Order: sequence, then structure tokens, then C-alpha cells
Amino acid sequence: MAKHTRFDLVQSDIPAAWYNLLADFPEPLPPPLHPGTKEPLPPEALEQIFPRNLIQQEMSQERWIEIPEEVRAIYALWRPTPLLRAVRLEKALKTPAHIYYKYEGVSPAGSHKVNTSVPQAYFNKQAGTKRLATETGAGQWGSSLAFACSLFGLECNVYMVKVSYDHKPYRRMLMHTWGATVHASPSDQTEYGRKLQAEDPHCPGSLGIAISEAIEDTVKHPHTKYSLGSVLNHVCLHQTVIGEETIKQMELAGEEPDVIVACCGGGSNFAGLAFPFLRKKIIDRARYRIIGVEPSACPTLTEGELRYDFGDTAETTPLLKMFTLGHKFMPPAIHAGGLRYHGMSPMVSHALKLGLIEAEAYHQTKVFEAATLFAKTEGIVPAPESAHAIASIVNEANKAREEGKKRVLLFNLSGHGLLDLSAYESYLHGKLQDV
Ligand SMILES: *Cc1c(COP(=O)(O)O)cnc(C)c1O
Repeated sequence: MAKHTRFDLVQSDIPAAWYNLLADFPEPLPPPLHPGTKEPLPPEALEQIFPRNLIQQEMSQERWIEIPEEVRAIYALWRPTPLLRAVRLEKALKTPAHIYYKYEGVSPAGSHKVNTSVPQAYFNKQAGTKRLATETGAGQWGSSLAFACSLFGLECNVYMVKVSYDHKPYRRMLMHTWGATVHASPSDQTEYGRKLQAEDPHCPGSLGIAISEAIEDTVKHPHTKYSLGSVLNHVCLHQTVIGEETIKQMELAGEEPDVIVACCGGGSNFAGLAFPFLRKKIIDRARYRIIGVEPSACPTLTEGELRYDFGDTAETTPLLKMFTLGHKFMPPAIHAGGLRYHGMSPMVSHALKLGLIEAEAYHQTKVFEAATLFAKTEGIVPAPESAHAIASIVNEANKAREEGKKRVLLFNLSGHGLLDLSAYESYLHGKLQDV
């Protein structure tokens, strides 16, 4: 038989605990602040929008947090996810590098986001929540939460950025199929949405606006909590199942990665793959280069400022210390909708500040060039977001060829692009522009 290119685990290998990098940071993470007093936020201040059990996870310094059996049983619908070696891509690039990817697109919603939507719905159910409100950009998070809510019998109310609501109907249909209610944001459901509609009836919306609407919905409805699909510590925590599985799978492959890459929108799939390897970097002095990749059109890590900022446009969230382009920043309408956020996970921001990781930005034509090469060689059509990681991997593979060095490259393929084919059509027709 030919050499192994796929490294599979079995159901009992699904991690029993999430890994919390907060336990191992060489310097503590700056806390969230109350926007009025500028004092560290007391945990109770979050209870209006989050259940207590998730607030505990958000603030926990424990290294390992047990995954409830019920959540692990649901994870088994798609986990452990495969790790593959992209031998045909290596060949096409004529590179001596070995390229591995962890594939999260096998989940019901087609991306990594269900790794956190399921535990968030579970812990809300435990806490007595009846209804969840959230925002979504292109619909990946909204559909992931809709799926999780349907499993636990929770109502799901989604504010979807208006441009995507109009132009990306398929994930909206997915949300409806899983039983969620979906509003185009700005909507007539909230005071903030009505105000924006009155000011500009054609307002295309943004993630920051949709977050403000979902939070207003939460505080004005009984038994309702808010749920966020990225950025926060507990979201990064839930995603670490990705990296924990990958560590075992790289052992099966008999290699150690030199370079670890993932795309960064709010930072959660990056955190998921990278944080377990960061533990080895901090504690065992492993020498990984770890790279977060973002769009040049929304260059939070590469050109943003590290400071306290709001998570939303209406200034309703606590202040978070993060790389930010400013909470009023309106990113251009690029096809990687999941990477159009003005801020970045405080944990990922802190890791960059401490020099534990690096960041890169790519234009979307370069990204789609890499995406189509990947599709033609490895078969999977990547999500436009994930394709940012592939652009960086192609760059590293080319460097390895030029330097004549074997290197082991690993990236997170955070989702498939089968509901983003219109973006591919634009690219193939030469209609994509770099902004
Ligand atoms: C949402 C999404 C992203 C970006 O979000 P992160 O929190 O940065 O991971 C990346 N890839 C896919 C497939 C997504 O759906």
C-alpha cells in the first residue's frame, strides 16, 4: 500500500477536556473592563447576557475543563475530524515540505463553529435558558447555533447582516431548516435597528450592528441569553478539541509541525488549532512558528492597534483589550464574510503581543488562487475564510522549495466552501477585486 496520507482517530479519542491557555500564559491576560467605571468587570455584570456556568468558563484559570459526556456524545456526530497529508498539493507546488491539514468541514454545519455552539446550547439549557439570541455574518455561526438549539429544544433568534441575508440565501435556509428565526439586520425588532433603518433605509448592516441588536434583544426578552461564535475566552476554549486531536494525529503521522497556520476572523478556529501547540511551546519549549492569517481588507492583527475597545457598534459590550481597527470600522464587502470583524480575540491578541505567534495578511485574489489550486489537487472546495490559511501555506511551501529544505506545515481547514460557490464564480470570471 502507498504511504499513509490520512490519520484517523476513533470515538474514544474525542478529548475529555478542553484546554485553557489562560493557565499557561507567561503574563496574565488584561481583564475586560466596565465601559463606565473602567474598572475590571465583576462576573455578575455579565449575568444579564450569559449564563453563570459559561461566565465561569470565561474567567476560569483552570488548565483543563471537563467536557460533559452529553456534549462528547454529540461531538461524535462529526468528531474526531480527519487529519490529512496534502500529497497532491505538495506535488503541484514541487515542494519538499510536508503539508498536513485538519479538516473541520465534516461537521453538520460545514465548519468548526459547532464545536462551541453545542456546548453553549448545552450549558444554557442546564442554566434554564429557553431562548438564545445571536448575530451572524454570512450565516456560518447562525446556522451552527440553530443546529445546536434544535438538539436541546431552545428557541434560536438570529440577526443576520442584511447584505448576507439578501445575497447568501442558503445558510438562511439552513437556519430555517434547523428551526431558527432569522431577521435581516438592521431589523425592526430592536430600538437600535429601527433607529438605523430610519437614518438609512439601505444600510447594508455589519457584524458590529448585528451584535448590538442581538444584545438588545437578549436584555429585553425573558429567559433569553446571548451567544457569541468567536472572540471570547470560552469560545476559544471549546475549539481546543481541534488542536488536542491534531497533536495525537501528528504523532500517528510520526512528524512534528514546524509551521502551524490558521485564518483569523475573531480568532476561534486559530485558537482551536494553535492553543494546544502553544502549551507545548510555552511549557516544553517546542519551536513552532504559529501564524494567524487575515484578509488585507480587514487587517486587525497586522495593522490594528492593541487597546481597549468595544465589541459592537452601539457600545453595549464590555471593553476588551484586543487588536482592533476601531468599533465603527466598516470592512469592505469581501467574500470571506467570517473574517470581517473589527476586533480580535483578546487571548489571540495577547499571544501576538507576547511574541508567541505571528500574523500575515493576504489579498483575496491571492487567496482564491490558493483555494482553487487546493480544490483541484485535494478535492475539497475550501471556505473562503479557510483559504487564507492555504495562501500562507502555499507561501511557506514555496519558501521551502527555494531554500531546498524539508519542512512540516500544518493548517486548519476550518470549513468547506460549498455554500460559497458564488464567490468562486466571481473569482473564475475575473470579477474579484482587491480592496
Ligand atoms: C466563522 C469562520 C471563520 C472565522 O472565525 P474565527 O473565529 O476566526 O475562526 C473561519 N472559517 C470558517 C469556515 C468560519 O465559518
